[in-house]
Amino acid sequence: MSNVRTAYLSLGANLGNREETLRKAVQRLAAAEGIEIRAVSSLYETEPWGKTDQPRFLNVAVGLETTLSPEALLAKAQEIENALGRVRHEHWGARTIDVDILHVEGVEQNTSELTLPHPYMTERAFVLVPLAEIAPALMVQGKSVAVWRDAVGEKGVTRVKTSDWAI
Ligand code: ADP
Ligand code: MG
Repeated sequence: MSNVRTAYLSLGANLGNREETLRKAVQRLAAAEGIEIRAVSSLYETEPWGKTDQPRFLNVAVGLETTLSPEALLAKAQEIENALGRVRHEHWGARTIDVDILHVEGVEQNTSELTLPHPYMTERAFVLVPLAEIAPALMVQGKSVAVWRDAVGEKGVTRVKTSDWAI
């Protein structure tokens, strides 16, 4: 029996050299035991969400296959955040790097540590536009990612670089 699951992550950065930071984060994911990167979206520049008086973000969506449990995947994501110099400030505030787990195949859970699918993923253009590029048919809460993306539109989200990520 295979315990390999497909998972999708959203990476964002709005401080420092944002593209370099995202590239390093993808490289660290690719180098991790139990993770195989399958797709990386183009790079998108996006308006800040929630707390709007901060620099614009660069966002990217990553598709991978993993033998890690969701909790182990979160631990790896947080290890990468810490390694790349993320200091936790305020909620929704500026950050060097944010790695969120959007979806893990077959997993629905809501614990204090990890909610899957990510509770806000169906509302946020900065998540849905990159994700729809690599996983338009992925079903989330009864609708495809492409349908969710069309529902929120693409306002505030600009593709700045085509996907040419060496993975
Ligand atoms: P945010 O991403 O909301 O700006 P943080 O990155 O600081 O905030 O994350 C806060 C906490 O959210 C993390 O410590 C983590 O335990 C929790 N969390 C819950 N669900 C998820 C998820 N799907 N992906 C990433 N973190 C999650
Ligand atoms: Mg986060």
